[in-house]
Amino acid sequence: MTSILIIEDEERIRAFVTKGLRAAGYATTAVGTGAEGVDLALSGEFDLVVLDIGLPDIDGFEVLDRLRGSGSQVPVIVLTARSSVTDTVHGLETGADDYMAKPFRFEELLARIRLRLRAAAPAPAAAAAPATVLEHDGLRLDLRSRRVELHGEPVELSAREFSLAQELLEHAGQVLTREQLLSRVWGYDFDPGSNVVDVYVRYLRRKLGAERIETVRGVGYRLG
Ligand code: CA
Repeated sequence: MTSILIIEDEERIRAFVTKGLRAAGYATTAVGTGAEGVDLALSGEFDLVVLDIGLPDIDGFEVLDRLRGSGSQVPVIVLTARSSVTDTVHGLETGADDYMAKPFRFEELLARIRLRLRAAAPAPAAAAAPATVLEHDGLRLDLRSRRVELHGEPVELSAREFSLAQELLEHAGQVLTREQLLSRVWGYDFDPGSNVVDVYVRYLRRKLGAERIETVRGVGYRLG
């Protein structure tokens, strides 16, 4: 059975997430401090970790640092207050696989957990099936293996950067508004004032070349 570790000090959220995950068929363990969470996560018994940032002892960033510093590759989905989304996006560029802004709907969290568990699962034997590949001007996205190449050279993209690049490639030459990108890539009700799209466009430009993504002032972005 797939096991999920929940590190969250708020009783109400812990109960809500535990109940939902159990109903969805997962085994769950919940703890309320970062230190307990690190110990348990490092046991290797968990397939995924749901991690709150605001914890009473060490915060979620520290938990992530310790996990990654100990070589743990366990997928981590971070829970964060909506008001700190931008900090979180910056702070998590390396360690976390995804994050959810509180408050969130359980279905959103579940969708993300399923996605992460799928991504972490070993490639199926049927890997001979034709790969779905998007290509544009020397940029190549393999949707199956999630590999990215720029003029034949591999490029490392985070899960979110990959989704954003995919969305832009699927609509190459068209202008996509920030709202369209938010709803398609982030998939939930972000604060419309959020600059998370701009932040991630900057990340992509850094990795894929600044000229590739054109800013259409006051509207959005276009892959040129
Ligand atoms: Ca908390």
